[in-house]
Parts: sequence; C-alpha cells; structure tokens
Amino acid sequence: MPENNTAKRKASATKSTSPAKKTKIEVSETDEVQICGDNVMEFYAKKRRSALPTSGGEFKFNKKRVRMISKVQELPSDCKGIVYWMFRDQRVEDNWALLWAQRMALKQEVPLFVTFCMPSTYLDATVRQYRFMIEGLKQVEKDLKKLKIPFNVLLGEAPSVLPQFIKEKNIGGVVADFLPLRKHTEWLNKVAKKLPENVAICQVDAHNIVPCWEASDKLEYAARTIRPKITNKLTTFLTEFPPVQEHAHAVPDPAIKPVDWKKVEAFIKVDRNVSEAKWAKAGTENGLKMLESFVRSRLRNFGTDRNNPTKNALSNLSPWFHTGQISTQRAALRVREFRGKFSDSVAGFLEEMIVRRELGDNFCFYNKHYDSLKGGYSWAQKTLNDHRSDKREKVYSREKLEEAKTHDPLWNAAQWQLVTEGKMHGFLRMYWAKKILEWTASPEEGLDISIYLNDKYSLDGIDPNGYVGCMWSIVGIHDQGWRERPVFGKIRYMNYDGCKRKFDVKAFERKYAPFVNSQA
Ligand SMILES: Cc1cc2nc3c(=O)[nH]c(=O)nc-3n(C[C@H](O)[C@H](O)[C@H](O)COP(=O)(O)OP(=O)(O)OC[C@H]3O[C@@H](n4cnc5c(N)ncnc54)[C@H](O)[C@@H]3O)c2cc1C
Repeated sequence: MPENNTAKRKASATKSTSPAKKTKIEVSETDEVQICGDNVMEFYAKKRRSALPTSGGEFKFNKKRVRMISKVQELPSDCKGIVYWMFRDQRVEDNWALLWAQRMALKQEVPLFVTFCMPSTYLDATVRQYRFMIEGLKQVEKDLKKLKIPFNVLLGEAPSVLPQFIKEKNIGGVVADFLPLRKHTEWLNKVAKKLPENVAICQVDAHNIVPCWEASDKLEYAARTIRPKITNKLTTFLTEFPPVQEHAHAVPDPAIKPVDWKKVEAFIKVDRNVSEAKWAKAGTENGLKMLESFVRSRLRNFGTDRNNPTKNALSNLSPWFHTGQISTQRAALRVREFRGKFSDSVAGFLEEMIVRRELGDNFCFYNKHYDSLKGGYSWAQKTLNDHRSDKREKVYSREKLEEAKTHDPLWNAAQWQLVTEGKMHGFLRMYWAKKILEWTASPEEGLDISIYLNDKYSLDGIDPNGYVGCMWSIVGIHDQGWRERPVFGKIRYMNYDGCKRKFDVKAFERKYAPFVNSQA
C-alpha cells in the first residue's frame, strides 16, 4: 500500500523482454543463483544442509524468537515428551518453532509430538480455506512420518482438547505458534491456565523473519517507523534453517495412529457452498513450486507490473504464507538470491513481504481494536464521524455486494475474482474496500462487510494482513490525512478514473464480467 506520493517506488529499470529460461539464468558476479531442478523438496533440502546441526544436535537458534508464557521456565524432571502445538505455521521444514521443540526434546531425550487442534468452525472460514489447510496438513503428517515424529489432529478448540492430551502423555513442555489474533491469544491463555503447574509453555514466532516482539516493543505508526527497526535486525535473523532431524527418541505409545482424515472432514461444520480455488494447490511442496515459478518467470516484472491487475507479476504466495505452508523467511532467502539480476523487483518484493507484512502483525499484536473503528488514529475517527451523515450516492446491502451487483463493472469484476478464485489482485483490494466505505450506510458497516467478504472468500483471509488491509483502506491506519471530501473525510480516496490511468480496466472487466453476468 502506498505510504504517500513521494514513497511510490520508481519503475524498475530491469524489465526484461526475454522469455523465462527453464534451466539456466544468467548470474551476476555477486549472486550465485542456483536453479531448482524437478524435485523442489530436494532442492531446498540441500540448502538446509548448509546449516546442519553439530553432532551434539546443536544448531544456530536465536532465543529471541521465543517468549515464555508460563511462569515456570524449566522443564519438570519427570518430563516424558515435548509437544509442538502447530496452528499458524503448518509446515515441517523451515519452521523455528518445530526446531526449538525438537531441540528441547533431544536435550531431555524424550519423544516429540506435533499436535494440531482442529476447531469445527473458525471465524468466517469456509470449506475453501479448510480444504486448503487440511490438504496441507496431510503433507505435514507425511513429512513428519519420515522423521519418526508422530502427528496428531485433535478434534476441537485447543483449550478443550490439548490440556488432556498433555496430561495423558506426561508432557513437560509445550511450544506454541505465534498469531496475534484475538481468538488464538484467547486459546493460548486458556491452555496455559489448564496445564499442570510444572509444565512450561512458550511461544515461538516462526511466522515473521524478525520476531514481532523483537521488531518493535510498541504499536508502530507506519511502514516508515518500523522499516529501520526491521532492516537493522535482518542480518541477525535472516539466516539459513537447519533441517529437522529424524527424531532419536521413539514414541513409547503404540496407540499413535495415522490421522483419520475422513473423521476430520466430518467434524468440520463450515459453509460448504464456497468452491475450492483450483489454481492454488495446497501444501509445502506446491507452495515451494509457486515460489520457484515466481522467481523464474514473474519476479523480473514485479517491480514494474505489480500494480497492474491485467499482468501476471505477483508472487501469488499469500495462501501459503497465511497457512504457514511455506515460510516467508525461506521466500526471502530465495528471492534475495536474484538481487543482482532484478534489483528493483527484489527490493519491492522484500519491502512488501517483510516490512508491510510484519507491520500487520505489529498492529494486531499491540492494538486490541485491530478490526474496529476504535483502532484508528484520533484524526481518522474524527473525520469519519464528521462525515457520518453525508449523503451516499449509492448504498448497497451486504448481499448485493457479495453477489457483485453494483453499478461499477470494475468493482464487480474484482469481487468476482475474489469469489471464484479466492484471491483478488492486491491493487484492486484497496479500490474494492474503499468503495465499500463509499457505498455503505456507515464506516462501521463498511468495515464489517469488507472483513466479512475478505475472510469468507480469500484463501489468505483471517490474517493480520487482512484486518490491516481493510483498516488501511477504510480507517486510514498507517496512512496520513488527505484532502477532505464527502463520506471519506480525510481518508485517502480512490476512484475509477484513477484505475483507468493505471491499467487497462476494460480488459480486467472483460475477463471477470462474464461470470458476473451469468449470476445476475
Ligand atoms: C482490503 C485489503 C485486504 C487484504 N487482505 C489480505 C489478507 O486477507 N491476507 C493477506 O495476506 N494480505 C491481505 N492484503 C494485503 C495484500 O493485498 C496481499 O498480501 C497480497 O495481495 C497477496 O498477494 P501476493 O501474495 O500475490 O502478493 P505479492 O505482491 O506477491 O506480495 C508478497 C507478499 O507480501 C505481503 N504483502 C504484499 N502486500 C502487502 C500489504 N499491502 N500489506 C501487508 N503485506 C503485504 C504478503 O504476505 C504477500 O503474500 C489485503 C490488502 C487490502 C488492501
């Protein structure tokens, strides 16, 4: 999202007209770019071997990634196992939380368990997001099996099912993922309260490159205030991952069985009317394939074309980042290899994927009103209130918006892209949310509808980025005041003519309009 006019990044000078080469990419003197062969998992495994632990199981791990949740800091002497409670980071390799859990288990010489607690519903998630998640978890199970680490899916919200499991297995330490959303924080606190007093529980930020609490200890005002804090710490945190090891201490419990995925499917109680997004194949391997297709064919044009919804220049990685099926740190390491070749594109991508994304986590971590008007700056709340009673030229219900039945063919096309493909182009997401503010009875309603539609249809929805995206568009967070106008007040405005100046609006409308017409 633009910070202000002067912050617009200059067009890339590296735009190439040559087609993507399949097997060989020219490398600059400073960058040794390795090209992935057919086996993407093996390709990345080789990279991890460069950070192999020593024979004593020691590897470089920055303890600032960990924060203790329980008062007790040490593991109990009769500890019979360690649990990694996976939720946001649904992958085996490139996962600092799992690496930390394994390190504790190896030190104690006890088994390691990876456990996922499956809620039957999760905010506005539908079968679209659940299927993506479940398919990804099936790969987690397979990958863990090769490492002799049992994987359990417990049916229910963590506070109802995890403490019992921990007591039964005599677990001494729990490692939890970090996710700064209300629901997860509530689960974490409830689980911590229900555990036996001597069980230690900590959280590892395996999602961000610079852990959220290390990047900043306060609510940041904008990208410009968090950027130097993050970039100064990148040399410390942006390091290669060691591989997870085959676990040396077998599980003494023959009752651990393969996950009954049919039972899992039957357990979830979600809206099944939203179709799966065919283009996005779930799981770590497919996520890494998407990363490879990005660095080989789209990255070169990212710098120049990323704000053009008619071009295929984005990484499209957000569904895999959101579910943690691939790590943003892995993507940063890989994309950075191309900085000698496509410098502007690489810089632009790393700005979005590190600074903007981690700013999203900062907002949700330090602002408990991350999804309501109360979370906005006072100037923004005031201006929205001053314009609350302005006459709206058009007012649409949630249903009309959901069905893409507005007077604006570009908005309808964007909404239809979201409904049918599970991902709206990043530039249009801003236009889309701002029009919802313009066409609804109040800013509160506009914000609620944008969050509802984003969370229901986006494969990457229910994410700090989503709340921040809607809050930026409608409540002006991380932005500044602009020229005052009806309904928006001083919130930044976007219009159809502005889009026409940026890209071929009609081409985008043609691409998605037939779907709209067929539903009208
Ligand atoms: C109204 C609105 C709603 C949004 N909802 C979501 C959401 O639910 N989930 C989500 O992940 N992103 C959301 N975004 C941010 C951004 O639009 C998406 O991250 C991006 O479109 C994802 O596509 P991509 O992976 O191809 O992005 P790329 O442009 O290839 O960027 C790579 C990665 O950088 C990060 N990124 C890119 N743009 C932003 C941004 N503006 N803010 C924060 N991080 C960014 C994402 O992790 C993204 O996957 C929203 C933005 C707006 C304006």
